[in-house]
Amino acid sequence: MSARALSLALALLLAPVAACADDGAEPDAAQVSASFEEAYAQTDLGKEDSGGCSGVVVPDRSGFGKRVALTFDDGPNAVTTPRVLDVLAEHGVKATFFINGSRVTGPAERAVLARIVAEGHILANHSQSHLDLKNASAAKLASEVGKTDAVLRDAGVTPRFFRFPFGSASCSGMSYVKGLGYTVVGWHIDSADWCFATTGGASCPARTFRYVPDAYRSDLLGYVMSQLRAKDGGVILFHDIHASTAAALDGILSALEDAGYAFVQVDDAVYLPRLNGATPPPARFVGAACEADHDCNFSSAVSSGICHRFTPTDGTPAEEIGFCSLPCEGTCPDRVGASPTFCTTLDGGATGRCVAKSAAVNESCEAIEGTAPAVVARFIGTSSAAAATATACVPR
Ligand SMILES: [Zn+2]
Repeated sequence: MSARALSLALALLLAPVAACADDGAEPDAAQVSASFEEAYAQTDLGKEDSGGCSGVVVPDRSGFGKRVALTFDDGPNAVTTPRVLDVLAEHGVKATFFINGSRVTGPAERAVLARIVAEGHILANHSQSHLDLKNASAAKLASEVGKTDAVLRDAGVTPRFFRFPFGSASCSGMSYVKGLGYTVVGWHIDSADWCFATTGGASCPARTFRYVPDAYRSDLLGYVMSQLRAKDGGVILFHDIHASTAAALDGILSALEDAGYAFVQVDDAVYLPRLNGATPPPARFVGAACEADHDCNFSSAVSSGICHRFTPTDGTPAEEIGFCSLPCEGTCPDRVGASPTFCTTLDGGATGRCVAKSAAVNESCEAIEGTAPAVVARFIGTSSAAAATATACVPR
């Protein structure tokens, strides 16, 4: 028997224990760690258009504009899930709960499901007993999906979203689940709360999950925030079966709010268009026309694209128009194929905003509605950039 077959056999042997555990204890820490490390590698390598057969990769890879979709897996738990729901309610945040049907063992769990639905969260399918389904037989897969599908329908919802346990899927399994009408949801960010939970929330040991940097080994909040900064938002994975997650959630949501993040659900077709079968907006950059921030689906190292709205003041009929911009100090990023950019101020010196320089590609600003070329000074802010001027496309 190969090592792979042996570990699979062990996983299957141990899986029923997982199904029965109602205190959040992990039955086989080594297998859980290996599965999550494999999942981490997939999310990190995932390309924008390579949803393919991975149960981890979300087809949308950018353009989140500081939007976060919270997801909670492996519940319901009659003790910890209500604590999570309490915190979400205090913050007015809606999330998605991927449940395991085997956890619904009595009236207490059914009451938790009813509360999830009543409070506006999405109830979704995470299989019956949390097996690694990558190598499951067709019959086993059908039973694992179907039993929890029935649990969800009993709770009064039409299931729409499915997440493979550990994000572990095969191509045939993926097409089977999609054939049932499900949208398969992976994640961009693993909070590693399952790893912190192994020490009651104190730390995530390197031997359990090696992808948490040493600086964040004892800092779940810091790790979550660092991941979100790197990816500008996205779908994030938590587990509502851990008391340590429920205890940390209020601090995490407060930090997200303070940092300017907003919350969406996994069915949001504006910020997760590909996941929801919608066509993403064309890629835009500084100087492109826009109506709202989410039209400006690009970011710099420190901030997301924003739509600068203005009303021309030179006698043109007053109409609300706008172009894409970025907050800046000193410098702005350039992009091949787009006009060169310049950091100036559009509000009398209070803040910096990236604008397009007058260039052939924007027909000397004529292609950017409401603007005209003007010589403007660089906004330096706290940067070390030198004073400079440029001819840029600014509101007339
Ligand atoms: Zn899970």
